[in-house]
Amino acid sequence: MIKRVAPALAGLAALTVVLTPVVPAAAATQTLGWAKHTVYVEDHTNASWQVHSTIERLDDHSALNLVWVKKCPAGVQCVRVRLGSLPGNQVGETALTYTQKSGSSVLRITKAGVVLDGAWGKTTSAHYRRADVCHEVGHAVGLDHAKTNDTCMHAVITGKTPDHPSSATYALLRKLYPAKG
Ligand SMILES: [Zn+2]
Repeated sequence: MIKRVAPALAGLAALTVVLTPVVPAAAATQTLGWAKHTVYVEDHTNASWQVHSTIERLDDHSALNLVWVKKCPAGVQCVRVRLGSLPGNQVGETALTYTQKSGSSVLRITKAGVVLDGAWGKTTSAHYRRADVCHEVGHAVGLDHAKTNDTCMHAVITGKTPDHPSSATYALLRKLYPAKG
C-alpha cells in the first residue's frame, strides 16, 4: 500500500509517498513466496505505467522469472495488476492469498492482485509510476518493506527513491527464489 503525503519540494518529482505493509505481522519471521519461480504478471494497466520493463528489472539477479502477459494462461501462478481508485492518499495496494503447511514457516502465495491508483498515475511522473509498480509487484512476490531508501521497497518513496530494487532487495529475492542445483 502506498500513501501520498504532503509535497516536500516544488514539482511532482518531490512528492513523498508513504507505504504501509500488506504482509501480515505474523509473516515477519516467515518466508513468503510463490512455490515455483515462474510467475506471470497479467497487465491491465496502460503503457504509461511501464509494467513490462519494470518487472523485467525486478526479476534480475535471482531465479525469479516474471513473465509479462495481457492474460495469464490457465493454471499458472498469476499476479493481476490493474488500475483502480484507492481511498484517501493511497496510490497502490497488493492483496495476497497464501497457504501454510502445518509446522512450516513457509507461506506459499496462491493468489496476488495489485491495484494502482489510476487518477494519481495521470498526475504524477513516470518515475513514480514505475516505483509504484516495482513496490507493489515486489509485495506480490513476497517482499516486505525495506528500512533503507535505496530501493523501491522502502516504506517512504521520495523523488530520490529508485524505481527498481537495490542489491539488498535482490539478495532477499535470491533467498525467496534461489537458483537450483
Ligand atoms: Zn508497501
